[in-house]
Amino acid sequence: MCAQTRLLIVTAHPDDESFPIGGAIARYASQGVRVTLLCATRGEKGIPGVAAAETARIREQELRNAAALLGVAEVRFLDLIDGEVAQTPVDALAERVLAVMRQVRPDAVITFGPDGISGHPDHVAVSHATTQAFDRAVAGQMLAPTARLFYITPSEATLQGCGVPPLPQLAGGPVAAIDVGAFLTTKVRASQQHVSQHPPFTGAPEEEAKKLVCHEYFTLVRGGPALSPSTFDDLFSIL
Ligand SMILES: [Zn+2]
Repeated sequence: MCAQTRLLIVTAHPDDESFPIGGAIARYASQGVRVTLLCATRGEKGIPGVAAAETARIREQELRNAAALLGVAEVRFLDLIDGEVAQTPVDALAERVLAVMRQVRPDAVITFGPDGISGHPDHVAVSHATTQAFDRAVAGQMLAPTARLFYITPSEATLQGCGVPPLPQLAGGPVAAIDVGAFLTTKVRASQQHVSQHPPFTGAPEEEAKKLVCHEYFTLVRGGPALSPSTFDDLFSIL
């Protein structure tokens, strides 16, 4: 019997997971992959006029609701404060992520690219720390040499159209184009759990899902042929 495949996703705030990559999370969870979501903060500063502790309580629950819909097996936090992640030295932050990797032993890890997608300093810090942790985990044989690290890769296709992958030459590595067409309604439902963030979906999930594109993109930055300009369709496929 094969061991269960494990996927670790490292984000900064509640709601970083559902809209950008909720489709892929739901897809792999439905296929039996054990998905662990590690979120650095509880989004303490995300609700204007509401105290940090109360905001954290609200947003943690929203995240847990979304994660349950997506099929996430486990939600973990690094207990850092929203907006202050970048103030933690990257080595110390990497050590915290590494401790989780040591326990979870993922076959693949997904995090932000060094651009942080939105440029948010918390996202950028999580990207650097997770990349460092991944390299240390592989060097220390906590992860298999075949373990993969992916960066979430924004694409024009996130706004309109479907199946127009970013160019691997520009992305910096092979690009996984994950077909999430069967999971768009779930992705909308998960996004709608983040009520305090005013998700952009106000209608019925089935209707809102029709506005979304059917692929999410991830750039393979570790664990594959270096800079091979290719596109593939499964995070775990053999290249
Ligand atoms: Zn965020």
